[in-house]
Amino acid sequence: MFTFPQQVCEIAQHLVKAGAEMLEVGHPLISKEAMAHVSAVVGMDLGVPILSHARAHPDDINAVARSGASWVGIFLGVNPITERTRVSGSSFPSLLEKIAASVHHARQQGLLVRYTIEDASRTPIERLLASYRTAVEAGAQRLCFADSVGLLDPKQTRLFIRALRHEFPDIELEGHFHDDRGLAMANALQAVESGVDWISVSTNGLGERCGITDHGIFAVNLHHRGERTLDANQGKYLHELSKYVATCSGHALHPATPIFGEHAFTHTARLHVKAVKRDPDSYQWTDPVQFGQACKISKQRIRSNIVTDTVINDKTVGWDIVGGLFWEKGRQSAKPSESELELFTAGIKPGDKVAVIGASTKDLIEHLMAMDVNVTVYDFSKGMCDSLKEALSPNAPPIRVLDITAPLDRELISYYDYVLNDRLVNRFTTQEAKKALKNMVALAMQGEVRASVKLGLYAMDEKMIELGKRRQVLELFYCEDTQTIDFSKAGDILEESLLPHGQIDRDVLLRWYQSRGMETRFSDSSLKQLIEGVILDDGSQINVEHQCNFPDAQDTVMYSLKSV
Ligand code: SAM
Repeated sequence: MFTFPQQVCEIAQHLVKAGAEMLEVGHPLISKEAMAHVSAVVGMDLGVPILSHARAHPDDINAVARSGASWVGIFLGVNPITERTRVSGSSFPSLLEKIAASVHHARQQGLLVRYTIEDASRTPIERLLASYRTAVEAGAQRLCFADSVGLLDPKQTRLFIRALRHEFPDIELEGHFHDDRGLAMANALQAVESGVDWISVSTNGLGERCGITDHGIFAVNLHHRGERTLDANQGKYLHELSKYVATCSGHALHPATPIFGEHAFTHTARLHVKAVKRDPDSYQWTDPVQFGQACKISKQRIRSNIVTDTVINDKTVGWDIVGGLFWEKGRQSAKPSESELELFTAGIKPGDKVAVIGASTKDLIEHLMAMDVNVTVYDFSKGMCDSLKEALSPNAPPIRVLDITAPLDRELISYYDYVLNDRLVNRFTTQEAKKALKNMVALAMQGEVRASVKLGLYAMDEKMIELGKRRQVLELFYCEDTQTIDFSKAGDILEESLLPHGQIDRDVLLRWYQSRGMETRFSDSSLKQLIEGVILDDGSQINVEHQCNFPDAQDTVMYSLKSV
């Protein structure tokens, strides 16, 4: 479970941003930490009611009152199994007395009451109705039907909920469904159709055994069915929440998880890929972008001088989002200046074969085109490639989709005289940088690679790290040993640290950064060490022939690399 109240508060904030209308926070009697969690969330005043758990016992209820929560969720099963295993020695009449006394006591403490019958799906209907009626007469505002062992299917759910709706037409009803038969989602949707007002959910469906109804997927289903709409951002917030809770809980999301899983919109079968390239709707039920996702196509190698036609590399999502805005609206400092262009192109002659990795480096590409150089542009982002093609048409040079960190096509080995890239290595982890540098040197086996790298932290990194330290959540998104930052795990800290990038719209900027994933910050020595460790397929290594600091960006160094 969560060890930092801060994480619980962060999650509470994410939940409300993602549209949750009530928060259930712990069982305060259990421990000081549990009480602290509840009080911390109550203290945030998030604008939604806070409900906290209690057995049908005055001590539990008093603890909820002390925590500041406005609702108490009293739970007590009333079936013969519960009598035998949970409240041994009780009879059904004594359980009814317990229900009446605890609800009444809670009401006297000024609490609103939800009464849950645990294991309701294995409780005879006459006991269900008698117990709920007792709770209502004692003052309960909401009744919750818990399928605690995940036994029901939608047909049975319909019968139970319709019976309760008929018996208690004016009381709020809630459904709580476990997923032991894999039917929690189906039961929850059926329960809504049969008249419940609330459904208990959890992020990523986390809960006992197989968990309960998944919050994000349920919310998207209600949205799709027109039963409860999401606003323009809540789909993305649900995705962020899912990733954040996966990190805090240590339970990674299965890649095939609907909507928010890594593979939820990734197409692999050749026929599917062909159709999706014509029209994503051919194999997608909805637009992934509204959920912070993207239509991804698995890597395909096509003979001819190929280059992978598209790639699976999560980081493409961010660059697809920013596209040509990078040079149309981006800040000047992110593109090579005049003096830097001179350094990149020194000694290059008309007719030389030059590869530029990174379509965003449009100024350098245009500079090379004006030098009558035989230039080819490679970029892993189809969005960036398409934007550059459009920006340079009708004279655009060959612009190809290629992930420079992925295995290289043999036909490209040693094809170029020069391979240039501007602050590309800054977008990589150490592993990615190793693969990329190896591939770039292989592309220019007889030639030269010129790679500029900004050394050390960016101003935004520093802001995020400072905030992360202050809130004691730094280790969630920053590894000090490897100087690696994970923008996808930084949650609100990323949003609070966001610095303008020219006139690029803040929402686009945020989604671009969130999809940038992990990036390592290099020093000159750590980069040299990395370069030394690279062995090319023919056994040769990489030598740093020359390096120079950019005149107007002192913390950025251009490295000239050759295979030796
Ligand atoms: N100066 C800019 C900066 O600091 O962000 C550009 C850095 S880099 C050249 C950005 C470009 O490289 C983008 O067009 C991006 O799509 C592309 N890129 C990033 N990772 C890549 C990869 N693994 N393979 C190929 N292109 C990649």
